Amino acid sequence: MVTIVGAGLAGCEAAWAAARRGIRVRLFEQKPIKYSPAHKKETFAELVCSNSFKAARVNSAAGLLKEEMRRLGSLTLECAAECAVDAGGALAVDRDLFTAAVTERIMSEPLIEVIHEEITQIPDTGESVIIATGPLTEGKLAESIEALTGGMLHFHDAAAPIVTAESIDMEKAFFASRYGRGENAEGDYINCPFNKEEYERFHHELVNAQSVELHEFEKSSRDQFKVYEGCMPIEVLAKRGADAVRYGAMKPVGLTDPRTGHRPWAAVQLRKENSAGTLYNIVGFQTNLKFGEQKRVFSMIPGLENAEFVRYGVMHRNSFIDSPKLLNADLSVRSRKDLFFAGQITGVEGYMESAASGILAGINAVSEKRLILPADTMLGALLGYISDKSVTDLQPMGANMGILPPLTETIRGKQDRDLAEKR
Ligand SMILES: Cc1cc2nc3c(=O)[nH]c(=O)nc-3n(C[C@H](O)[C@H](O)[C@H](O)COP(=O)(O)OP(=O)(O)OC[C@H]3O[C@@H](n4cnc5c(N)ncnc54)[C@H](O)[C@@H]3O)c2cc1C
Repeated sequence: MVTIVGAGLAGCEAAWAAARRGIRVRLFEQKPIKYSPAHKKETFAELVCSNSFKAARVNSAAGLLKEEMRRLGSLTLECAAECAVDAGGALAVDRDLFTAAVTERIMSEPLIEVIHEEITQIPDTGESVIIATGPLTEGKLAESIEALTGGMLHFHDAAAPIVTAESIDMEKAFFASRYGRGENAEGDYINCPFNKEEYERFHHELVNAQSVELHEFEKSSRDQFKVYEGCMPIEVLAKRGADAVRYGAMKPVGLTDPRTGHRPWAAVQLRKENSAGTLYNIVGFQTNLKFGEQKRVFSMIPGLENAEFVRYGVMHRNSFIDSPKLLNADLSVRSRKDLFFAGQITGVEGYMESAASGILAGINAVSEKRLILPADTMLGALLGYISDKSVTDLQPMGANMGILPPLTETIRGKQDRDLAEKR
């Protein structure tokens, strides 16, 4: 028997995967007794915001993930196919029909027993347990998770954008560490140098760009103060004065532009995001700007004109554990092999990513031999990333081509490269 807490996308997939393998499941769901501020319906696998599961085509990161999920027997994709709505190249669903379909499948599966109850501490049943309580996990259960993980539960995203290494223009950007310090001889950071005119233009656009409106529950959330003072959005800092960011995230001290032989007027630094060095994050650029605005304004950074953003910066309420310190790639806790985490609480980001991790947790919770997917699958790469011990500051990650291992052969053209990455 396996115990699963949370009947969201991840919990339902986990329950389904376990039941398909002939194992009994006890699935705990707090609704309708208690609702998070974003959940409104009694039904399971509720989509709290958009109704899109992103691109369908298999030569996209989102499409590839879906194809892998389909082959693993995904419940959400089975239900999504029944209630899809027209959405160009994307898979989008009628959200009411979708949540009803998932609920109906779960409720009529004889091996799954649903119990409506708020779980207030991590169950210890002597058998497998999966925690899939989502990004709005709170209260006593959050305290219990914090106790187990040694306080490694974050309550917010404050993420800077991430770009692919291959899309950075190294004719303009250069490797260096401030004052030549750092591990690598060539420098640990990629630096994008600004002259005075470029900086002033960039600053003007940054302070005038449009931000995302926070949800009401995020405005009143208990950690809001921590986010805004300790981890200030770059655009908020920029509004404090023309030079505020030039003395902060964009300070040029300790850097010499090899092309001019001088210190730049300002500089943006990018730091390696994964051990393969295929992704870089923009240091200190946590932001609450709308995604389109991030693309427009951050593409003004010299060297990032054609940057491929694999994730944009976000700042919102999001509880997730420090998986690189805690989890194995099979989603079990390193210190307790019968305890698994699944869904957004592991640091994966997105509906499909959450659901996909649920499938894998469900399989592993009931299997003798643990399934660890290869790094050149999208789900394998994603779970490899969140459990990668070299990731020191995990920020939630969705499916993207940048987390796949680099290709061993040169393939021209992005579409062909993406296709080749699928092999
Ligand atoms: C406001 C908001 C908007 C989002 N919008 C999008 C979007 O548009 N697109 C996208 O791809 N992703 C979005 N996400 C991110 C994420 O993909 C979704 O949150 C997704 O639903 C996560 O799936 P999950 O199964 O991990 O958690 P959830 O779907 O949140 O499921 C968790 C379940 O656990 C239950 N639960 C929680 N605590 C307990 C407890 N103590 N005891 C018993 N049951 C409990 C909850 O009631 C819920 O049913 C959004 C997240 C938030 C918070």
